[in-house]
Amino acid sequence: MKKINASIITIGDELLIGQTIDTNSAFIAQELNKIGVWVKRRVAVGDAWDDIWQALDEEGKNSDIIIITGGLGPTADDITKPLLCKYFGGKLIVNDDVLKHVQYLFDQIYRRPGPMLERNLKQAEVPDVCTVLHNARGTAPGMLFKKNDKVFISLPGVPHEMKGLIVNEVIPRLLKEFDMPVILHRTAFTSGLGESMIAEHIKDFETALPAHIKLAYLPGYGMVKLRLTATGDDKEQLEKELDAQFDHLKALVQHVLVTDTDEGLEVVVGKILREKGKTMGTAESCTGGYIAHLITSVAGSSAYYKGSIVCYANTVKEDILKVKHDTLVSVGAVSEETVIQMVKGAIEQLRTDYMVATSGIMGPDGGSTEKPVGTVWIAAGNKEKIVAKQFHFRFDRERNIRQTAHTALDFLRKFILANS
Ligand code: AMP
Ligand code: MG
Repeated sequence: MKKINASIITIGDELLIGQTIDTNSAFIAQELNKIGVWVKRRVAVGDAWDDIWQALDEEGKNSDIIIITGGLGPTADDITKPLLCKYFGGKLIVNDDVLKHVQYLFDQIYRRPGPMLERNLKQAEVPDVCTVLHNARGTAPGMLFKKNDKVFISLPGVPHEMKGLIVNEVIPRLLKEFDMPVILHRTAFTSGLGESMIAEHIKDFETALPAHIKLAYLPGYGMVKLRLTATGDDKEQLEKELDAQFDHLKALVQHVLVTDTDEGLEVVVGKILREKGKTMGTAESCTGGYIAHLITSVAGSSAYYKGSIVCYANTVKEDILKVKHDTLVSVGAVSEETVIQMVKGAIEQLRTDYMVATSGIMGPDGGSTEKPVGTVWIAAGNKEKIVAKQFHFRFDRERNIRQTAHTALDFLRKFILANS
């Protein structure tokens, strides 16, 4: 089977000092993977001439496609463009289309008063040996170079601009340029069992998989994704084969299966509510609104999500959610009684069909022998019924918050399915 390799080179000092997390590589790798390109290497280098040059030399040997991001800004630290110009043996010339676009952005979109700065006009200069890739979302164009049958593509570092270029310009060109193998994925999303337990449960299935279909375990917050990846040349045949294996896998994990699409719990819960024509809200103490954030990140969530009461302080739990003072004094805020009363009070305040509430100790301080850091109570309910459960997480503060939010969404999902 044919194999097309790619390298991703990310440029910028900010990546090396850990100030910016390299999310560009992940996005590019995912998009390349979808069309059957194997990302063989990922390299990060600073804004340093020799290092970039060397990375181009090396990756040009390794891969058929070399995608570069960063270093295309209008400031002096960004040296990628002149470097590429020299590397591919061209000279910088003003590109009329890019100039018009830069002018349009400044006049119509950014609405900057006065004449454009020299350094902004310079963004319309490109090496005369490249193909310009239109960057609809910004001033720095993408550039495509060819050398010894290899394709080098340079993109701006700004994630939003890079994404537009990858989807609209890069992928369509690569599909035309290369004869790609077919890569297909199917993802099953499970919750409630750890990856070792699942692996044990499906070991015979895994052993029997043919060589061109691979199984990956992708553990996340309180869930495990199981992804089957098939590679081949005949799409139709491969699809049939993969779907048969996927059906088999789903049947094996049916008791813990959340969904057979590659979507987060906030999407899954939203779909269920939408289908049932019901609404929900959140009463969040320890998650501080993070569940609300997850839910409202989904476009169209206003159809089923009414809001959150972030009741971080006990006074808010009492004043707004009518949690009893006695309860807070006798058993504390992190307790079964409290989260149950939070659900009850929040349903009344927000007038929703369903509610989920969280209260826990996220750390690093605030734990005790009785309630160590990571102790969390979650409750979910409707007007008729409320259920609550205690959980014990063992991570740092940030991870505990995320884990609690995802666990709460799954807890609510199960409640809705069992009580509707
Ligand atoms: P540049 O094209 O080098 O001017 O990059 C512009 C901005 O994009 C930088 O200041 C970073 O905030 C961001 N950026 C650059 N490279 C990456 C990357 N690999 N991942 C995520 N963000 C990036
Ligand atoms: Mg930079």
